[in-house]
Amino acid sequence: MTTTLEESSWHNRISTEIDRCLERFDCKDAKDIRDKLEDLKKVAGQIAIHSASCRQCRKYFAKIDGLTSMLHDFNKEPDEYKDGYFNIIDEIASHLQKDHGYTLTNTYIRMCTIFGGLLGISIGCAIGQSIENLIIGSVVGCIVGLISGFSIGRILEKKIDSEGKLL
Ligand SMILES: [Zn+2]
Repeated sequence: MTTTLEESSWHNRISTEIDRCLERFDCKDAKDIRDKLEDLKKVAGQIAIHSASCRQCRKYFAKIDGLTSMLHDFNKEPDEYKDGYFNIIDEIASHLQKDHGYTLTNTYIRMCTIFGGLLGISIGCAIGQSIENLIIGSVVGCIVGLISGFSIGRILEKKIDSEGKLL
């Protein structure tokens, strides 16, 4: 699925307005706001792609327009508008995941790392028992498991990203 010229120029305009707003939050304290505004840019791009065929995405299309037109107020009093903003962005992201098969960044990395760590500990324990050193076995197993899990998660996410399905 691709965007029409009108939708991609809409996305360009939204991105430019968000970028302008991001300049204002160029400090460490505002990391959560910056991350969320980056998310807004990402979800806006996906909404533009699906709005032709999905009624819910068309609704969000208008909602994102509303959000960006309020960026000026958000700039002035981020604390007052933050929660409302964040909720809508999360809602849109969850629609994209549920109905359009998107995956949030770091989901697989987190899952595979945890699973790898646990698997590594149990294999490490088994090996540790046979060499009569449980501690070395489980520690080495855990480290190897964490690193392999993380790498596998990263490969999976790269693949999802190349399919354009990573949020
Ligand atoms: Zn949709």
